[in-house]
Amino acid sequence: MAEARVGRGTSVFAKLVTAMLAMGLFLILLVTLFFGVFVGPSLNDLIFQLAREYSGAIAATSPGLEAARSLRSRGLKVNVRYDGPSGSWSTTPGLPSVDDLRAGRVSQNHLLVVPRYYLVDAPQGGAYIFAWNFSRPFQVAHAWLLALLAFMIALVVLTTYVVIRRLLAPLRALNEGVARLGEGQLDVSIPVSTRDEFGRLSSAFNSMVGRVRLMLRDRDQLLVDVSHELRSPLTRMKVALELPPDETQRPRLATDIAEMERMVAELLELERLRSGRGMTMERQDLLGLVHEATQEFQGRQPGVRVVAASSALMADVDREKIRIVLRNLLENAFKYSLADSRPVEVSLSNGAEAAAIRVSDDGVGIPEGDMGRVFEPFFRVDASRSKRTGGYGLGLSICKRVMEAHGGRITVERAGARGTAFVLTFPKRNDGRS
Ligand code: ADP
Repeated sequence: MAEARVGRGTSVFAKLVTAMLAMGLFLILLVTLFFGVFVGPSLNDLIFQLAREYSGAIAATSPGLEAARSLRSRGLKVNVRYDGPSGSWSTTPGLPSVDDLRAGRVSQNHLLVVPRYYLVDAPQGGAYIFAWNFSRPFQVAHAWLLALLAFMIALVVLTTYVVIRRLLAPLRALNEGVARLGEGQLDVSIPVSTRDEFGRLSSAFNSMVGRVRLMLRDRDQLLVDVSHELRSPLTRMKVALELPPDETQRPRLATDIAEMERMVAELLELERLRSGRGMTMERQDLLGLVHEATQEFQGRQPGVRVVAASSALMADVDREKIRIVLRNLLENAFKYSLADSRPVEVSLSNGAEAAAIRVSDDGVGIPEGDMGRVFEPFFRVDASRSKRTGGYGLGLSICKRVMEAHGGRITVERAGARGTAFVLTFPKRNDGRS
């Protein structure tokens, strides 16, 4: 219901066109009114005055019929009638008599407010009537003015329509994009043709669709990976069940079940962290956390060394989650160290904007091309080698989620000639404390 109403009833395009049209028409009305109220009357006054003066001047020369007729040949658009003691004459039939005019029996109305007839006493007695023919040129001007107005209105309508249509083109594209996305088409991408707000909105939409696409791809990949990883232990268990009962198989079955349990637990943890659930933030001394974590690795080859920062490193963290991160990183550092490796090093540093913990080893290292992928779930540089060392490739993705839930980051880099370093960055709070 609501959708239908939005679709049919309210169009920004129609609203804008109406608003701009109303404004255009209002302006035209304003200009017309201005001319009608201010310019028109003063023009009429001028004409009226001129006609009166001309009439007076002509009457002063006491023209006869011939002289009055010759006025037209001199370009004056005037008809004259004379009514006097010596008789009456008129240059054209149909002019009212002096008596009729004096008695007010003739309408003086004119297209404009200028009087039609001018009555002037004649020096020789009697009176002249001058009928100035202004109406023609004014009628022509009037018609032109109306045509011009009609043309202006048509121009305003057309320009408004074209301009608004062009302006709103990105909005239409965006609308279509959203509709297509709503239908589940994730390959939708709308053209970014302008650099204004619409352009920025279109690029934001495109990158949002890109992120949604990536997220869904990651989910699909995760599903495929989980099924793949579960298949091997399940097959082993199925085979074991088909064979005659054998006591030696029990420990193997138990190992497979434990492995599967661990994987499911890690996957659940990954999901919980995605939604940011189960986080308990407390202000912690990071050096204390590092000492606790390294404690568990004392005595293992090639050893571990902690390098503290020059000042105390406090941060708001979930103590348990950060312990898991540190344990994962240390476990990997020990796991991938070689017989002749230098001790694993955990160093803390206090930057201006962030506190950092760096866990570096002198082990086998990660090939440059794989560094960007180590945080993806189930990614292992060498699947067979890692399987031997007992990992599903979920540890680092959990570390990444934990750090993101803290508003921090985890990055990987090469350490020394062959080793690897993971850097945890904790953002400092705006109040200057960390
Ligand atoms: P796993 O449980 O397999 O170790 P992780 O997510 O912790 O899973 O690590 C993913 C992969 O990254 C590992 O399989 C390994 O190939 C690589 N890796 C992680 N840490 C190190 C390290 N310190 N040195 C070399 N390779 C590492």
